[in-house]
Amino acid sequence: MAASGDRLGTPLERIKAALDDLPRWLSRLDDASLGEPLIEIRGVIDRSEAIFADGVRRFDKSGEYKADGALSVIAWLKWKCKLSGGAAAERLEIAHQLQKLPKTEAAFASGTLGYEHVALIARTADHVGAAAVRQAESTLLQAAQTHDPGQFVTVAKNFEHRIDAEGALNEANRAHERRYLHLGEPQGGMVRIDGLLDAEGGATLRGALQAFMKPSKSDERTFGQRQHDALIELCRQRSQRDGAGPRPQLIIRASLDTLAGISGAPAGELEGGGTVPAATVQRYACDSALTRLTGRGELEHELSHATRTIPPSTRRALEGRDRHCVFAGCDRPLNRCDGHHLVWWIKGGPTTLPNLALLCRRHHRMVHEEGWTLARKDGRFNATPPSRRVMPSSRSA
Ligand SMILES: [Zn+2]
Ligand SMILES: [Zn+2]
Repeated sequence: MAASGDRLGTPLERIKAALDDLPRWLSRLDDASLGEPLIEIRGVIDRSEAIFADGVRRFDKSGEYKADGALSVIAWLKWKCKLSGGAAAERLEIAHQLQKLPKTEAAFASGTLGYEHVALIARTADHVGAAAVRQAESTLLQAAQTHDPGQFVTVAKNFEHRIDAEGALNEANRAHERRYLHLGEPQGGMVRIDGLLDAEGGATLRGALQAFMKPSKSDERTFGQRQHDALIELCRQRSQRDGAGPRPQLIIRASLDTLAGISGAPAGELEGGGTVPAATVQRYACDSALTRLTGRGELEHELSHATRTIPPSTRRALEGRDRHCVFAGCDRPLNRCDGHHLVWWIKGGPTTLPNLALLCRRHHRMVHEEGWTLARKDGRFNATPPSRRVMPSSRSA
């Protein structure tokens, strides 16, 4: 009997016992030889999903989930199997469609077809009918072998379109109706962005971001951080190209004290909400091409006197001299660089070539906000890391 704990208990007990052993066995393998076991682990998960699907279908039919007080098998899966609503509905869909798609079911059960491919085939069957899918099942399964799930979406959508162009159009139109983009109010120094793009919008955005996604040498940014930076870069360049001359896209209201970095000064206020620390105001003010600073009378007065704007001829000379970001090892090109004042203009540093340096946004930020020092000696730039790393967590409350 299962409950006796005997080694030959139920299949589930044997699987769990094997899972108990698995980490120890894996830990004895050297890192380089983990590839094959990882593939096999995914295969085991996929085969488990195939078995799970069959069980879900039978359990749904039995109606026994009601005994637990659940109103539907989806509700039961969410509650008892810790699935999200979408994940539960997907599994139920798979469970029902597989019954009508014998080749897909067999390939799933044997582990040759992965869960994500199966989910796509089931969704296609839901859209155009299992009968249509069954007629093309071999071709679809073959395509699944050579296309990863992301690519297989296209295969499945093409197939749907061939079977039912009108339905595909309706679906695309419904999807288009659901599009939205929400930009939150600044909270804790962050703005939440969320949304659903239609397929065309998504592809357009992805394509546009791609141009700015290349990691630089020894890039420590995560994929998400690079994607964030790419989006901002895209917006910046867009407005740089607009109209005659650059239009400031960022308007910051700041006091003279903030600009001078005097302690006790207020933060800079972003038009449209949110504040930024003085160091950030200073960075933006460093190359005025992109930012307009506004403030009380004294600031306006100071701004009109300081020659902080880099004249076009100086900018051209700067670009000719530096050619890319001057940080050692950084090769981000001109169009992704700001002109940085080595001696801050509000402290009397002139806007002339010897006092300027091209810095990419990342390195410009490191200099102003993260405590790095940039100096020029004998025509060479030298960047020194901060003695104390400036991190948000080190800020006292
Ligand atoms: Zn600067
Ligand atoms: Zn750089």
